[in-house]
Amino acid sequence: MSKNNDENSIIDVNLFEIIQEAYEEHFNRRKNKLGCSELPFCPRKIIISRLYNIPIENKMKMLHGKIHHAVVQQPRVLTQLIQSLVKQLNITDDINVKIEKYLLHELLPGKYLEGHIDVYTNAFLIEIKTTAALLKYWSKDLVDYHLIQLNTYLGLTKQKLGFILLINLRAYFSDVTDFNDVWNKYGCILPVHFDQELFDNTLAKAKSMFQEMERGSFSLPGPEFQWECKYCSKEIQEFCYQERKKNSPA
Ligand code: SF4
Repeated sequence: MSKNNDENSIIDVNLFEIIQEAYEEHFNRRKNKLGCSELPFCPRKIIISRLYNIPIENKMKMLHGKIHHAVVQQPRVLTQLIQSLVKQLNITDDINVKIEKYLLHELLPGKYLEGHIDVYTNAFLIEIKTTAALLKYWSKDLVDYHLIQLNTYLGLTKQKLGFILLINLRAYFSDVTDFNDVWNKYGCILPVHFDQELFDNTLAKAKSMFQEMERGSFSLPGPEFQWECKYCSKEIQEFCYQERKKNSPA
């Protein structure tokens, strides 16, 4: 973990209020429309949500599965989220906001890093992440792989501050009926301060990966995180094992 981010505090933003308004807007706007993404699912649920004036909390609960990028990137949510952050951070400059900024950075001749920043402003970046961790094990801490990704975006855009907006998809299975509770329990905003050393190391790693690929070599050590091997496909695991055997001293 970056030393700058050891003492990470959770920014206090009322996500519930912001998102509730966005959902109301969402339902009103879509009265005469069906999303193709809704079509595979229970038609009763979709029809009920449109035709009956059920409490907004229940409608929101029906859309738990959408509580990530699409919702957070709605203009209304973004505006309010950014206003809250700007206020807390005492930022007085004008804020320009861009959703989904694409990055293409030539790291070595003809070799590029590409990135996709969820929310870009001239004062900070926001990266939206989801987790399915069980609530009882979820500490709302910054994890290294989120930190490294966002830190790389910060370095490439020459910014100093970013936020991980972390949403726990267990909300989808929650039987909590008070939606305010759902947001308080299942969402958080974690600040990330740019770390030059981490950025340099990340770029150095990317360069060595390009160079290894040029050479057709598999000698870089791995994994970065213990759990990665478990999620590798059988074929990759087998190949990786054979290469390791070839390269280890007899
Ligand atoms: S099994 Fe997969 S994750 Fe583990 S070291 Fe090999 S390639 Fe990396």
